[in-house]
Amino acid sequence: MNYESLYSEIGKSLKSSLIRELLKYASVPGSISFGGGVPDPETFPRHELAEIAKEVIENDYKYTLQYNTTEGDSELAFQISKLFSKVYGIDGLTHSNMLFTTGSQQALDLVARIFLDKDSVCIVEDPVYLGAASAFRTFFPKFITIPLEDDGMDVDYLEKVLENLAQSDQIHKVKFIYTVSNFHNPAGVTMSHKKRLKLVELINKYDLLIVEDDPYGMLRFEGENLPSLFKLAGIERALLLNTFSKVLTPGLRLGTIIGNPEVIRKLTIAKQAADLCSPSLNQRIAAKYLERYDLLEQIKVPIEVYRKKKNVMLEELEKEFSDIPGVKWTKPEGGLFVWLTLPEGFDTMEMFEIAKEKKIYYIPGQAFTTDDTPSASMRLSFCLPPEEKIREGIKRLKEVVIEYAKKKGLLMYENISN
Ligand SMILES: *Cc1c(COP(=O)(O)O)cnc(C)c1O
Repeated sequence: MNYESLYSEIGKSLKSSLIRELLKYASVPGSISFGGGVPDPETFPRHELAEIAKEVIENDYKYTLQYNTTEGDSELAFQISKLFSKVYGIDGLTHSNMLFTTGSQQALDLVARIFLDKDSVCIVEDPVYLGAASAFRTFFPKFITIPLEDDGMDVDYLEKVLENLAQSDQIHKVKFIYTVSNFHNPAGVTMSHKKRLKLVELINKYDLLIVEDDPYGMLRFEGENLPSLFKLAGIERALLLNTFSKVLTPGLRLGTIIGNPEVIRKLTIAKQAADLCSPSLNQRIAAKYLERYDLLEQIKVPIEVYRKKKNVMLEELEKEFSDIPGVKWTKPEGGLFVWLTLPEGFDTMEMFEIAKEKKIYYIPGQAFTTDDTPSASMRLSFCLPPEEKIREGIKRLKEVVIEYAKKKGLLMYENISN
């Protein structure tokens, strides 16, 4: 059967994600992987969740084992409203401001569905969260990428882009600006307060919408919490995406999207067509968990684990990589990722062949571009390997870099220690 001739334009455009391909190697015995962006399973409150699950299946079976409304569980809406009041200082959210999705990934897909056409412009960061780029790409928009700096997207660059779009009468094509404001995936950086204010000023000036994706905001190890773009911009100009995946468990597949009731209604209709509703059981489990436990207290334990691992990785990078001129890495105050950038001439995708031999895995920066451009950067996740493996892994990575450099005639620095 020639399926190719049957595929739609969208079907034809779908390709397997680079990350999925690369992560296959990570299960090789003796390997160390900085690739996976998933939380440590030991942080999942499995006993608490098991107890709640038993209870809500036995007692609330008429709800939890039944079809649900697309809008989702009103008990969860009540709990989320309380949680977001604490986390974001946003008060007065009601169920009409929320939609529960099958992970934030579905929220990204629904956002793309209701906003993007072929001639739409979609503004994202460079590097961009791969899951968002895949969801948006399905609808063939034109991407404009804004370079990411240590304190978030380059808002001066964005300002010029918007000015140019306005001058050429294209600004109406911009459907939204997508950003991961805290502890960026893949870059680990956080947008500064100053840049947040500037971004809000720009969207007000040009009448634009922000899609703020914040799966990591609650996972801060150090530094001060910053006000969300959603709070600064106001509910008319922003959608806020949140998820239980990084702070509770990704297995529940439960995300929340917050916005103006009119947009939420549109998203709800789009979700109806996609999957009717998210699992009632999972929503009720999450609601009961939030009712019974203080999530912000509970995550102090994993936060401490991640903070230590992050420090080990940064310490080891300092030891191994600071003698390579032109190399730099980000210093996250939360989340799961460090972004390591090698000097010009390195291609971390090509270098991956050597990494495979040495059984050390990372995600090449190319995976986080909108157009598959080769990259000298890589994403390193510190959340899964134990501390001694992190040290060993960074040492192996140094060997990979040296070997690649020799092969390509890069870095003629005799004094680099190995
Ligand atoms: C992990 C992650 C998500 C969450 O995905 P889920 O579908 O909720 O598991 C969303 N955005 C970013 C930037 C992420 O890193």
